[in-house]
Amino acid sequence: MSSSVALRLPSIDGLLRHPACAPLAERYGRDSLLTGLRQLLDELRPGVLNGQLSAVEIGAEVLAGRVGERLAQQQRSQVRRVFNLTGTVLHTNLGRALLPNEAIDAVQMAARYPLNLEFDLASGKRGDRDDLIEGLIRELTGAEAVTVVNNNAAAVLLTLNSLGARKEGIISRGELIEIGGAFRIPDIMARAGVRLHEVGTTNRTHARDYEAAISPRSGLIMRVHASNYSIEGFTARVPTAELAELAHRHGLPLLEDLGSGSLLDLTRWGLPAEPTVRQALLDGADIVTFSGDKLLGGPQAGLIVGRKELIAKIKKNPLKRALRVDKLTLAALEAVLGLYRDPDRLAERLPSLRLLTRPQTDIFAQALRLQPLMSERLGEIWQVCAVEALGMIGSGSQPVARLPSAALCMRPQVSKRLRGRCLLNLEVALRALPIPVLGRIDDDALWLDLRQLDDEPAWLAQLPHLQVEP
Ligand SMILES: *Cc1c(COP(=O)(O)O)cnc(C)c1O
Repeated sequence: MSSSVALRLPSIDGLLRHPACAPLAERYGRDSLLTGLRQLLDELRPGVLNGQLSAVEIGAEVLAGRVGERLAQQQRSQVRRVFNLTGTVLHTNLGRALLPNEAIDAVQMAARYPLNLEFDLASGKRGDRDDLIEGLIRELTGAEAVTVVNNNAAAVLLTLNSLGARKEGIISRGELIEIGGAFRIPDIMARAGVRLHEVGTTNRTHARDYEAAISPRSGLIMRVHASNYSIEGFTARVPTAELAELAHRHGLPLLEDLGSGSLLDLTRWGLPAEPTVRQALLDGADIVTFSGDKLLGGPQAGLIVGRKELIAKIKKNPLKRALRVDKLTLAALEAVLGLYRDPDRLAERLPSLRLLTRPQTDIFAQALRLQPLMSERLGEIWQVCAVEALGMIGSGSQPVARLPSAALCMRPQVSKRLRGRCLLNLEVALRALPIPVLGRIDDDALWLDLRQLDDEPAWLAQLPHLQVEP
């Protein structure tokens, strides 16, 4: 027999009755506490048997403290707010467009109460959810009809499948694009059951190329807006109006995937020109698809607009049911579209447009204001400067256009060998803040582009928590 008295883990019952555990039961519920305690005791048991743990380490207070930490960690939401100071405004990985208050109110209403999602209040009969925004879409784009799905990728898939399955889809080689990860036009076409018939070359495609490809097997002509890259130099592209005329002469529909698309001419706000949905339809596209959460500035959605009989065909596709949007999205979308009826006030009311059009002088003044505070917080090792910077719209809109902005630029004043590590440490520290701050590392410096720093008080309030490892 060993001379020391064998340690024993406290019993679950004993722990549950212990005063240190009472507040935990109150806060997280008895079941969660019980599960947490069981897990912890199971983990500690081998250590106790081996004599590796001391009496203090398995005391009720210590165990309650450890379980409390775990339960707090588990309860913390995985969906977290962050500061997007990357310089990319419509950042796909950070949730793209921010909703205006009008849309947030609409989402709350739709979440809280029953609503006429598919119920026609005038006739008392069953309605169609697309009807809730059809009037607005007609007014804002000139389209005859609309149907809304989960995102633009779904809009393209559904449209292709509805109008071109088992037939050939004719598309220029310059438009066989990939948009972030898994969305590639040739793959989507294949999944939609459309046989790809590519025409022309990467840089030049002519009307005669399309013409030569048309046969009894043809189902549609597709055009994809080259949203995330640009072809420059010796190029040729058939204007939409000419392509539409050609398609219609052969009885084929012309689909145009605008990607971001825009309901209004953005140059009125000094932004780069982006094709508008109305113009694409005026030029003769029969169906136009675009995203809800890119330049439109609304919720994630894919809008399919265009000719009434084609939209009717798309809506009859059983896939529509699988790809449709929910009530929260529709409520938000209607509210956002409503703001477009008053373009004069749009830049004040729509957050994405407000941020995209924020003047550089305003952003630079903010950088000057924050520079001394950041400098003081980071200490000697870091040189902190307020500098001009160039941001991007993001989400594949205008890949080469740059938004003149301003940033805090932080450079570690250490030997070249240590710089990378220093920058990484700062990046990690910024991400560890209560509201994680995301910037970008470039040219041996960490940049925080301030275009999107709306909530300066919240940012300042957490600055004292910034702890950078040396
Ligand atoms: C972004 C984009 C898509 C995909 O849209 P999501 O709304 O992200 O699904 C499709 N086509 C083009 C041209 C795009 O730019």
